[in-house]
Amino acid sequence: MKADKSDILTCLRNSEDYVSGQQLCDRLGVSRTAVWKVINQLKEEGYQIESVPSRGYRLVESPADAYSESEIVSRLHTKWAGQRLVFFESTGSTNPDAKGFAEEGAPHGTTVVADRQTAGRGRRGRSWESPAGKSIYFTIVIRPSFAPDKASMITLVMALSVAEAIHEVTGLHTGIKWPNDIVVNGKKVVGILTEMSMTPEMNEIQFLVAGVGVNVNQEGAEAFPEELRKTATSLKMESGQSIDRAKLLARILERFEEDYDVFAQALTLSALKERYETRLVGRNAVVRVLDPAGEYTGISRGVTDTGELIVERETGETVLVYAGEVSVRGLYGYV
Ligand code: ATP
Repeated sequence: MKADKSDILTCLRNSEDYVSGQQLCDRLGVSRTAVWKVINQLKEEGYQIESVPSRGYRLVESPADAYSESEIVSRLHTKWAGQRLVFFESTGSTNPDAKGFAEEGAPHGTTVVADRQTAGRGRRGRSWESPAGKSIYFTIVIRPSFAPDKASMITLVMALSVAEAIHEVTGLHTGIKWPNDIVVNGKKVVGILTEMSMTPEMNEIQFLVAGVGVNVNQEGAEAFPEELRKTATSLKMESGQSIDRAKLLARILERFEEDYDVFAQALTLSALKERYETRLVGRNAVVRVLDPAGEYTGISRGVTDTGELIVERETGETVLVYAGEVSVRGLYGYV
């Protein structure tokens, strides 16, 4: 049997000490030769693996910013999120890929990751700038048992998970611009696009896909097209440090698994709302709601248990803003 690269890397990474060739064979049910071949492949890819006769193998270091299926999987500690993971060097957009796998029966948590997208997408047919080697683009398949009217909350759950994972890994303060963008120092670093597929009878969710784009290691404003320079930034530009994409992605998937399970128990955001609201940008400040039916301003007061933005209009009336067709801005700029 062929030895799986991700399994071997996972064993090496999770072991404090040397792992003997025999232990790897026993754990993975493969031959010594198969193990040896994979170790050599990993070395060729730049992994520093020490081999000591009679003790075994030890992972000394991964190549800088290693970003591949095995690198991501070997860092994951999840039950379902990303347990099946498909990695593309380049693809059009990970959302349609994930939908395709879901149509073919891919299980809950299946995740498509790409190093580059040639047709990255945002909401309402907008595009998402997706250069190679710099960012995280992934889409996770969700197979919920809840009703379609609950689906829009998934975007908020994902926003919370990503915002907290970024904070944990980089130390940066992350804000959430309702419902689906994450900002650092007033500029956008993350976009999230959730899409739903219904059963043929149109009364149940067949699956959801939640796609996430994170600007990670872009080095300066020039890395973005002219029209995005005022509103877009990257984690490296804000923190001054290169960020390990595989580590951050693994942390995002772990956080999302926890937060999703909490949400799926209650089917409201009640247990997550407080954390979401502490990151909500523009809270208790004046916001502009860009509603296609007519733009208006008001004071943002937070979100409801079901994820609508609460806005107090000048007329004194309190309105609940539903995600979907609407964008929200600060009074004078993007946030
Ligand atoms: P908004 O950001 O206007 O509130 P939105 O939430 O609907 O709207 P998304 O669908 O999340 O926006 O993202 C698409 C928009 O994000 C694009 O129209 C563009 O302005 C901007 N954008 C595209 N690529 C990037 C990127 N890599 N980083 C930051 N912003 C980007």
